Amino acid sequence: MEINILSFIYLLASVTFIVGLKMLSHPTTARKGNAVAAAGMTIAIFGTIFLYNDQGETLGNYGWIFGGLAIGTILGTLSAKRVKMTAMPEMVSLFNGMGGACAALISIVEFDHLMHLDGMSGLLMVLAGSAAVQGFLLIILLGLIIGSVSFAGSMVAWGKLNGSLRDFSFRGQQAFNIGLLLLILGLATYLIVALPSNALLLFYIIFGLSILYGIFFVFPIGGADMPVVISLLNSFTGVAAACGGFLYDNKVMLTGGILVGAAGTLLTILMCKAMNRSLTNVLIGAFGGNTATASAGPSQGAYKEISLSDAAVVMSYANKVMIVPGYGLAVAQAQHACHELEKILSAKGVEVSYAIHPVAGRMPGHMNVLLAEADVSYEKLLEMEQANEEFSTTDVVLILGANDVVNPAAKSDPASPIYGMPILDVELAKHVIVNKRSMKPGYAGIENDLFFRPKTSMLFGDAKKVLQDLISEVKNS
Ligand code: NDP
Repeated sequence: MEINILSFIYLLASVTFIVGLKMLSHPTTARKGNAVAAAGMTIAIFGTIFLYNDQGETLGNYGWIFGGLAIGTILGTLSAKRVKMTAMPEMVSLFNGMGGACAALISIVEFDHLMHLDGMSGLLMVLAGSAAVQGFLLIILLGLIIGSVSFAGSMVAWGKLNGSLRDFSFRGQQAFNIGLLLLILGLATYLIVALPSNALLLFYIIFGLSILYGIFFVFPIGGADMPVVISLLNSFTGVAAACGGFLYDNKVMLTGGILVGAAGTLLTILMCKAMNRSLTNVLIGAFGGNTATASAGPSQGAYKEISLSDAAVVMSYANKVMIVPGYGLAVAQAQHACHELEKILSAKGVEVSYAIHPVAGRMPGHMNVLLAEADVSYEKLLEMEQANEEFSTTDVVLILGANDVVNPAAKSDPASPIYGMPILDVELAKHVIVNKRSMKPGYAGIENDLFFRPKTSMLFGDAKKVLQDLISEVKNS
């Protein structure tokens, strides 16, 4: 009877995951969606703890379970409360890595369990080669390999996003990565098919090599390619968690893992499309490796500046203004000031909208989240293709802390690490005003020729301060 209640709880939790995911797809319902899915996860966890009963055997170990839950809850709550908006992408990477690590740990525990059950080793030897054992081992090894790659890769991504690690690659790294992956797959196949007497050692070698692969897989990826790898690692964690669901025959874990894996895969495909990359290149870690050698390039000459009052006048008398938000807007926490400027310009009869590049900021959907926080109307956000159609009829483009996503080198310079990435064609507009603090490059580490072009004027300063001053100027103009 208890088992049936638990099955019902799992079904209910799975439904909340699906409904929550659907709600997350729109800013107005996203917050509630998160709460719905979290509620589902809570009942699934407590249902498992208290109602699990396999032929009279219950979970037990309540001290360990609640100790772990308490530590996780405290750490999770504190980090979620304290994290700065700009450090959010790193935190997402870190947490994703923890998911991968959990999946890998499940595989380690279950393999060890399998090998050390009383009398089981002998039984295993007899059963080695049977489809049931092979199937079980396959899932264990998939969880181990994918989880470890996701863990190690996410840790490197975390370091790169917080600036403590730099891109690193060596000659022949692509071949090395492929070789390493083939070695891991070869050893795993041998272990599954032959189950040799030194299986435990082999298992730990596969674990170590997978960690190494995760590191070498992500290290060379730089330039503008991190968004693809971040969403790919996200889908890896989902698949690894689903393997855990298979191992424990736990439906809710399976559903949750599959949903994360599928959502991550869809996001990866969208990011690949946005970056104009093929998934094959991503999988062998073949792209972006040239960033380490990419220099900022020679200075392009003179740029011109615009004063706050001139910028305010140009925008106040425009028919159409397009705002391009970037990572700097998040750094400055200037989203509210940005919305304020939009409202004041709109009140003056100016048509204002936002051009959102899919990889602007440091995580997928970063700009949407940032602007939603300031209650910017979702209807005002134009996706890249839509925005590119609008630029030719736009009077002023105001770029706020964006750099790589408006860099024309992506179109014109085959040697550039962002070459091939679709960009926002801001130059089609009549005037381009760029707000940033200096002439320093953005994430890809390359100079931006846009800043030196005739239509462009630089408006230096912290985005929040500049926007606040612009608001006063526009009010007076
Ligand atoms: P960039 O990193 O290219 O540029 C941001 C600019 O903001 C910098 O040039 C900086 O210039 C400026 N800036 C920083 N702080 C402030 C401030 N307080 N006020 C005003 N300006 C400021 O950002 P983009 O959004 O254009 O591009 C995103 C980049 O990040 C792409 O290369 C993308 O591939 C990469 N990336 C994206 C991820 C994603 O999922 N979206 C994940 C990982 C990487 P200055 O210092 O002179 O002020």
